[in-house]
Amino acid sequence: MKRFLGLLLFLSSFAFSQLPPISQQPYPGTITVTVDASAASTKLFHAKLRIPVKPGPMVLLYPKWIPGEHGPTGPVVDLTGLKISADGQPLQWRRDDVEMYAIHVRVPNGTSALDVSLDYTSPAGAGIYTAGGTASDKLAVVSWNQMVLYPGGYEAEKITYEASLKAPVGWKIGTALPMAGQTGEVYQFKPSSLYTLVDSPVIMGEYLKVLPLTNPQGTPPVEMDIAADSQAALQFLPGVEDHLKRLPMEAVALFGATHYRDYHFLLSLSDHVAHFGLEHHESNDSRIPERTLSGEDIYKTLGGVIPHEYVHSWNGKYRRPVGLDNRNYEEPMKGELLWVYEGLTEYLGDMLMARTGLWSPERYRQNLAQEAAELDNKSGRRWRPLIDTSISVQTLNEAPHAWSNWRRGEDYYEEGELIWLEADMVVRQQTNGQKSIDNFVQLFHGQPSLGANQVPTYKAYTFDDVVNTLNQVTPYDWRKFLNERLWSTSPRAPLGGVEASGWRLVYTDKPDDVLRALEAERHYVDVSYSIGLIVSEDATIVDSFFFKPAAEAGITPGMKLVAVNGRKYNADLLRTAIREAKTSQQPIELLVENADYFKTYKLNYHDGEKYPMLQRNDKPDTLTEILRAHAK
Ligand SMILES: [Zn+2]
Repeated sequence: MKRFLGLLLFLSSFAFSQLPPISQQPYPGTITVTVDASAASTKLFHAKLRIPVKPGPMVLLYPKWIPGEHGPTGPVVDLTGLKISADGQPLQWRRDDVEMYAIHVRVPNGTSALDVSLDYTSPAGAGIYTAGGTASDKLAVVSWNQMVLYPGGYEAEKITYEASLKAPVGWKIGTALPMAGQTGEVYQFKPSSLYTLVDSPVIMGEYLKVLPLTNPQGTPPVEMDIAADSQAALQFLPGVEDHLKRLPMEAVALFGATHYRDYHFLLSLSDHVAHFGLEHHESNDSRIPERTLSGEDIYKTLGGVIPHEYVHSWNGKYRRPVGLDNRNYEEPMKGELLWVYEGLTEYLGDMLMARTGLWSPERYRQNLAQEAAELDNKSGRRWRPLIDTSISVQTLNEAPHAWSNWRRGEDYYEEGELIWLEADMVVRQQTNGQKSIDNFVQLFHGQPSLGANQVPTYKAYTFDDVVNTLNQVTPYDWRKFLNERLWSTSPRAPLGGVEASGWRLVYTDKPDDVLRALEAERHYVDVSYSIGLIVSEDATIVDSFFFKPAAEAGITPGMKLVAVNGRKYNADLLRTAIREAKTSQQPIELLVENADYFKTYKLNYHDGEKYPMLQRNDKPDTLTEILRAHAK
């Protein structure tokens, strides 16, 4: 009875608690974290922490706002098995009523350290970013933010952690986190700030290949640590390794400096983990389908993720927008400048895909055509300016595919790319071809390089800094140029850069091989530029483009295609009907199921199939010049 009463008092005392403000003081003492990932393939990770403390109330935080994910995506739902004790005695903990990522605990008198144990239960398969699937039977990525609690009220740079990791027997690891030693499967890392720890994930795998991208004398060294679900997936297509090895030299030729001690591409090749890329200052965690680099057909679907995440070492980590330079993982992020952070990275990343030869110029144009067409047909741009997709990143990054044409998605990536291509063309025109966006990035992201024995640091920037640096390259009304594009609700995409670089967006009646490969990988049919539909493999309407025939007739996402012109639906039948309607007076008849009810819709559409491509216009072909290899 007495104990029960005490417990009630204890719990109620935190009911209206507040989180501590962030001080600039270093956290006293070093926190140790020991992660047991020896059973990674079961998707269960254990961590033990020893946290030096002082008696009294304390707040422990689970990382919430994850850098590079631009949102509160820390997987607190998968933080399980949490136990806190002092000197062997279990302590009562209580989650904050409002902030689900905060744990309150009262440190007893005479206690100098807390022992925390926790589990991270990784979901199987897909999911969002690092909170999605992180382990298969043969590989895993350890994201330290998922394995730690940290004391509230301190900057991540000012809390020191000493980490160790136990890997599965026989697996190898790769990471940018400086290592202190290894005993069997246990790796001991040098002390680092919480910031660097979270910024330095570890890839592990039974089949792990280390591919140096710089020669032994090259400084700073760059390597790829590639884990795959099979040995066969590590046998890359001819030329791929050579193209990958061109990345550091092309990046240095572009930026003119480096800001890392050494750099690790942590690449997972697996069909059983979430697919995405996440940037870090000295590494990146990119996860793509198993056969992407070894299978002819799937190689066509390789997007620009590998150089994109590498470019982020300069644009996003070394240069970081104000609002995304958070002091710890509790402080909310502000995404307004993501059209620079991601949009410029998308432009430079795709440019490096071509400059290294990972993409042919034709493949680059196929990608650009698809991005341009998608944006040029995006109905939501009539109500939502691009800048609002940046600002609302934390809602859009988990938005469903349905209605995304009207809602808009994270368009600051691809539309940012179009804007930076146009800015590049403006610079070239204003300077008679003497300067380009390369000059901007050399001023903005370039010298001085990180010195020997220095820890990476960053320089924050604002919108004004971007405008001022562009003006330094060549005087122009950059503020107006950018604001017009960022705040526009024009139905048309900014295609001025495509046009000025010698190309125009047109539509053909044959899908190219890349579009076909993407359809196969994503399990959908894309007839969005003709009748305005994206249809999944099970015939469900994934999206319906406003102002296109299907949407005008009343067909919307979530409905299901049953029949085309009276015959049971399949993808080829739909394409054939669209093609044949071009020479017919008859409407295309679609029988559609909508929540158990059936209805026939008639589409008076006679323009045939439409797939985007770029075609030369009468201007000089500057785009091909932009994509030419630049490294000596
Ligand atoms: Zn990015």
